[in-house]
Amino acid sequence: MEKFETILKMCAEQGISCIPQAPMKEYTSFHIGGPAAVLVKPKCVEEICWIRRNVEKLAKVWFVGKGSNLLIPDEGLEGVVVVLGPEFSDVRVDRDGFTLVCEAGAPLMKACREALEHGLTGLEFAWGIPGSVGGGAYMNAGAYGGELKDVIAWCEHVDQKGNLCRVEGNALDFSYRHSFYTGKNLCIIRVGFRLEKGDPQQIRARMDELMTRRKEKQPLEFPSAGSTFKRPEGAYAAALIEQCGLKGVRVGDAMVSEKHSGFLINVGNATCADVQELIRQVQEKVWQKTGFRLECEVGTLK
Ligand SMILES: Cc1cc2nc3c(=O)[nH]c(=O)nc-3n(C[C@H](O)[C@H](O)[C@H](O)COP(=O)(O)OP(=O)(O)OC[C@H]3O[C@@H](n4cnc5c(N)ncnc54)[C@H](O)[C@@H]3O)c2cc1C
Repeated sequence: MEKFETILKMCAEQGISCIPQAPMKEYTSFHIGGPAAVLVKPKCVEEICWIRRNVEKLAKVWFVGKGSNLLIPDEGLEGVVVVLGPEFSDVRVDRDGFTLVCEAGAPLMKACREALEHGLTGLEFAWGIPGSVGGGAYMNAGAYGGELKDVIAWCEHVDQKGNLCRVEGNALDFSYRHSFYTGKNLCIIRVGFRLEKGDPQQIRARMDELMTRRKEKQPLEFPSAGSTFKRPEGAYAAALIEQCGLKGVRVGDAMVSEKHSGFLINVGNATCADVQELIRQVQEKVWQKTGFRLECEVGTLK
């Protein structure tokens, strides 16, 4: 379409790296999704500000990280996907010696590794979460009793007008898999984790222990988006799904994992429609049999 050609041309003039008709299955951990009309990989905050001021007038824009909590429609996205990736993944310790300042595209695993290297404790629980720092802050990622809300001191974002803003303290509005950013199309660019001095050997041991537990329990050999459903009050999604006899149930190549029934996995060439239909069937069966409503944790861009 003409408007996307205009966007590609405008970005090229600015020296911003763009891909037309980018296959989103290459940018999601589910390996599912049709093409994005344009995919942009910004290298700096200024490029993000420029995109917000100039590109959003012409087309819808989404901000994504490692695509590890995302479903992309099979027909693709009529818009611009901005991927905060390796080009935007600096991690450093602040002058105070306790705050880990991470660009939003940094993998959470990189943040954990840097924390370990500097003998900083508090982020060990996130070792093994395959998302980016920005994606993690967006949805308050958590595991093994920890949540990012426990360590995030502040987040910085670029708003719709291309202005830089900082949100901290209670204003971050964190709760289970929710933050101030949930449902808002703001672009998180930087996150500050407030950590504490710790013993590197103990930090390393905790990270190793949690990774072992992940490898034992999770079907990491298959593409997925992790736990598909949020934990309902008073129960565990995986236990409810298992109780309903849904392990191994398939729609096309989308399957309820035999190893961890909270994971829906892609065992071949699953489509977005397959996964959505399987989600629907699981929700319906669990509701009918147990009275629990399972809410989807995985987001769909549309
Ligand atoms: C094998 C596996 C294990 C997992 N284990 C866990 C786990 O233990 N705990 C857990 O919480 N999650 C887990 N996940 C899910 C996922 O890794 C996390 O939710 C992660 O935080 C998502 O980050 P992301 O960069 O992949 O976000 P994406 O999938 O790219 O995006 C998710 C949402 O965040 C938004 N977003 C992303 N980056 C930005 C940004 N910079 N600014 C504004 N919005 C943004 C997107 O628009 C989208 O709405 C797992 C996933 C897999 C595949």
